[in-house]
Amino acid sequence: MAKIKPRLFIMIGPQGSGKGTQAELLAKKLNLPVAVTGDILRAEIESGSEVGKRVKALINKGNLVTIDLWEQIMGTYLKNLKAPRGVIIDGSPRTYQQAQAMERIISKYNLPKPLAIYLDLPRDKAIKRLLKRQVCVGCRRSGAITDPEECRACGGKMVQRADDNIDAINRRLDLYEQETAPLIDYFAKRNELVQVNGDQSIQAVHQNIVHALKTFESATTHS
Ligand code: AMP
Repeated sequence: MAKIKPRLFIMIGPQGSGKGTQAELLAKKLNLPVAVTGDILRAEIESGSEVGKRVKALINKGNLVTIDLWEQIMGTYLKNLKAPRGVIIDGSPRTYQQAQAMERIISKYNLPKPLAIYLDLPRDKAIKRLLKRQVCVGCRRSGAITDPEECRACGGKMVQRADDNIDAINRRLDLYEQETAPLIDYFAKRNELVQVNGDQSIQAVHQNIVHALKTFESATTHS
């Protein structure tokens, strides 16, 4: 079976579909960095830059970062990452505008082509998972409410996110369906998408992703 080529792997799926967890597992498997959009934006805020101040004002109000800021920050980050073997991106692109900006970034900095990994999970299952989710205040790893109070990865405290309540979950899923889900079609039409059933155990989803990526490479190598 074909080897997995360097790519900008993009995790797509509703909140709760396991994007962060699967990004980490795939990163370990392929020895790649993970670019977590929220972390990159928070690092920009921490830097105290003018751009960071604008990001902070938006994030604190619960708004998405504007497209110009997003393109500037993600572009600089991906350019500086120097990841010849690719990178796994979590949390972007979230909108059609961002998908287009991502194309500009790729051609400007001569980065590997994108390949979206779509984790398919029905809305009712996503809601159930989010209501039972805890995240680490230190490294933001997520786990189930039934997990120990200390994060397995960094020892930080595991807490429920303030926006993991039913009203906020429904609002976030509505936004996902309106703004992000259309990107599934966008990437599929460009032959830049693999789809995996997210409604399985963590390990099963991981194995399915690896298999789907290898199958994708075989198909594109021979076509
Ligand atoms: P998160 O850590 O994923 O919850 O992201 C924290 C905040 O960063 C979000 O509430 C948004 O304000 C912002 N953010 C994250 N990803 C994006 C994105 N792709 N586009 C715009 N803003 C984003």
